[in-house]
Amino acid sequence: MHDVKSISEKLEAAGVNPTAHRIAIYQYVMSEADHPTADEVKRWTDENFPKLSLATVYNTLKTLVGAKLLKELKLPHIGKVLYDCNVSDHHHFLDEDTGQLIDIDPELVEVRPKLKKGFVVNAVHVLLRGKGPTRKK
Ligand SMILES: [Zn+2]
Repeated sequence: MHDVKSISEKLEAAGVNPTAHRIAIYQYVMSEADHPTADEVKRWTDENFPKLSLATVYNTLKTLVGAKLLKELKLPHIGKVLYDCNVSDHHHFLDEDTGQLIDIDPELVEVRPKLKKGFVVNAVHVLLRGKGPTRKK
């Protein structure tokens, strides 16, 4: 699914020049990582692309966000920006035991705000917290 060729085509289609590190970072966030922070991406590039600076990692993430290939998430449980490869609208479930953030289809969460007249809601993001389904080990 997320091979180098299809990743580089996605980047090109979004108007991003598919350099080796952009392909690698996007591929990492798409397949291996789970809503990583920039620090996590940097730790991964340190192992795989040891010459990439933190500034380059940040710039690459910024480019991918600017091209709408990634979304920036700011959630209250962690004081850092997370990068989400799922750019469609969705909610999140935080497994408080593992810290894992699970994407939740907006169809599964009903939000019916009872706001006074005059409010215009542009976006809804729900962070559910608790215990996720038991995972196979
Ligand atoms: Zn997500």
